[in-house]
Order: sequence, then structure tokens, then C-alpha cells
Amino acid sequence: MKTYRQELTFHTKTHRAYVNITPQVETALAESGIREGLCLVNAKNITASVFINDNESGLHRDFERWLEKLAPEKPYDQYDHNGYEDNADAHLKRTVMGREVVVAVTDGKLDFGTWEQIFYGEFDGMRDKRVLVKIIGE
Ligand code: ZN
Repeated sequence: MKTYRQELTFHTKTHRAYVNITPQVETALAESGIREGLCLVNAKNITASVFINDNESGLHRDFERWLEKLAPEKPYDQYDHNGYEDNADAHLKRTVMGREVVVAVTDGKLDFGTWEQIFYGEFDGMRDKRVLVKIIGE
């Protein structure tokens, strides 16, 4: 069995962002040379997510509005976590949107369902964040 590991780094210009990282994951898969196996992609920071959904900008605005209703960023003093840092909402948003995805690798390609793409969800951005890509198989 072969294994491949790569870290991607993100530094978004905005506090929250949704980034389609499918091209980077496909590049990693090509570099791995793995044809059959599993590809794990996970956020390495607890205020960011990796999730799979549709690459449609309206949906991304819907995510933003929905998450702000569930866990509004402000007022900061509504959260026990805030004080030293004011990112409680980002931790909650990350929990809802998930830590990682696993995609089957078939014939050297990510075996997606229709319209599926991999996204990095940033909820406390404008600083360096990391995503792990781990691929196993043969
Ligand atoms: Zn925190």
C-alpha cells in the first residue's frame, strides 16, 4: 500500500470565506500516483472546515446567512469562550460544517457524486491555516 501526505496552506483576505480546493486535491492525487484507495482532506485548525457541496455562489451566500443565524459573530460577549480571543462563533460554525471529508479514489480520480466539490470553509481567517491531504491505496 502506498501513502501520500501533503499540507495545503490558506490565508484568506476576509474573515470568513468558502474556497473550492478541488483543484489542489486533484493535483495532490496526481502527484501521489495512487489509482485505487481513499483520500482524506481535513482542516488542521479548529475554526475552519472542509466539506463537500455544490460550487454555486448563491448556495455559499446561503451558508453564510444560515451560519450567522445559528452562531452570530457578534456581540462577542454572548459567548463564554470569548475574552482572550473573540472567535467562539468560528468554533461553532466549524462544528456544524465539519472537520473533514473522505473521497474514494477510483481509476486515479476522485470518485465524486454529481456536482460534488471539496471546499475549505474559513470562519476566522486573515491568518495562515492548514489543510491535510492524506491519500492511501495503490
Ligand atoms: Zn477560540
